[in-house]
Amino acid sequence: MAAEKETSPCLRCKPAKCCMYITLQVQTPKKLVDFEEMLWHIAHQHVEYFVQKRHWFIMVHNPCRFNDAEGRCQIYHTRPTICRDHSTENCEFETGCDFDLHITSYEEMLEYASKRFPSLKERINDPSLLWENREQGNGKHSQRRKR
Ligand code: SF4
Ligand code: SF4
Repeated sequence: MAAEKETSPCLRCKPAKCCMYITLQVQTPKKLVDFEEMLWHIAHQHVEYFVQKRHWFIMVHNPCRFNDAEGRCQIYHTRPTICRDHSTENCEFETGCDFDLHITSYEEMLEYASKRFPSLKERINDPSLLWENREQGNGKHSQRRKR
């Protein structure tokens, strides 16, 4: 990641694509409440979801503070292990990311989830149904309420 050898594609990758986001694997959404929470996530700027080999990930586009204006890592010799493990072989520079599913907006998430749960749009348009759903939830989801 952001390597500096003469032949490295990292020298041509500006800004360094792999330093511009974070990802985190999440539980595979199975219930309506799972998608309701993901809709809350993706309503925020720079948040996306993707699926790779049946695993779901949240992606937040936010540049690493150590990537400088030249696209180089300012802490290259002490960079985190995940950065060391990221190889230029098959990285996203030439071919982009190899996603099986990529959901980039609230609207796309709503469409995707509505195909699996046709009642979702109706529930979103009727808050009383959403609160009924919360009370029937299994407790593992965030109880955060909008201010
Ligand atoms: S995306 Fe690939 S080429 Fe670009 S900085 Fe990261 S490892 Fe280097
Ligand atoms: S620590 Fe360095 S290699 Fe890792 S994401 Fe930040 S700039 Fe990129």
